[in-house]
Amino acid sequence: MSATLIDGKAFAEGLRGRVADAAKRFQADAGRAPGLVVVLVGEDPASSVYVRSKGKACREAGMESTEHRLPETASQEELIALVKSLNADDKVDGILVQLPLPSQIDDKAVIGTIDPAKDVDGFHVVNAGRLAVGEDALVPCTPLGCLMLLKDQLGDLTGMNAVVIGRSNIVGKPMAQLLLGESCTVTIAHSRTKDLPEVVRRADIVVAAVGRPEMVKGDWIKPGAVVIDVGINRVPAAEGKTRLVGDVAFDEAAAQASAITPVPGGVGPMTIAVLLRNTVVAARARLGLTPEVGL
Ligand code: NAD
Repeated sequence: MSATLIDGKAFAEGLRGRVADAAKRFQADAGRAPGLVVVLVGEDPASSVYVRSKGKACREAGMESTEHRLPETASQEELIALVKSLNADDKVDGILVQLPLPSQIDDKAVIGTIDPAKDVDGFHVVNAGRLAVGEDALVPCTPLGCLMLLKDQLGDLTGMNAVVIGRSNIVGKPMAQLLLGESCTVTIAHSRTKDLPEVVRRADIVVAAVGRPEMVKGDWIKPGAVVIDVGINRVPAAEGKTRLVGDVAFDEAAAQASAITPVPGGVGPMTIAVLLRNTVVAARARLGLTPEVGL
């Protein structure tokens, strides 16, 4: 392997430390800690794990964290009523409704109810629109974390060719907007893209957010490109066990790239760290306090 390993775990730890300092300053300014509320509907085991780790990370950063659980059978009206009560609660700075939601509930209706000023996941159309027109916005955590890693690795991204594989509202589209905001020449590739390997070969920056294990091959990577692998895929391993792999065939791609994120330990740890960051940013903005620098 010739590529530098991009250590998302270490970067995320540093960011969490800076967030903890910012939370102390907020406490001094506002007389209370920044507050995040996570809402979980149902008992999905993966979602429960995410929600627990978000709460723990929040408390470790000196922030207030509350969990609201609704039963799997909860109605859309019940969930929307809860979101409205959280919108009205002055001590709540961030509201996160854990996805996926049970089938009787329309995600869009729920996310559309969250006060955009408290939308720390950055999924509300108002925040998506602000990002698109280059205004201050709360930006989805995973792509913002990817951008932080890229800027840390490369500095100025101006003029670089970036290819984002995947066009989801959660990762691909906001990632493309962020890279455009850094003056990259951005291509969004997706399941209908023709000759994907050729498209990827033009990229100085490749962000893979597909959800297909090791789909991006080494010979798709331009020598010296920087590769950010968002994918988290569980695949069978020896002795009936499983292991996590990304969307990029790591060993092959690392032989071509100048830098690459591993899975696990790359993008994954950034998501929660950026969620904490977004909560402090939202908290200061809501109270009209000066924005934090360096977050
Ligand atoms: P998604 O299923 O919503 O979107 C996948 C995208 O990939 C789609 O836009 C689709 O067009 C594209 N795609 C599918 N097959 C393709 C193909 N053959 N060629 C090119 N493009 C193709 O997924 P998502 O929510 O954007 O997540 C993508 C991956 O990132 C998943 O593995 C997910 O687990 C992971 N993820 C990781 C984090 C993290 O914290 N690291 C956060 C969110 C998502």
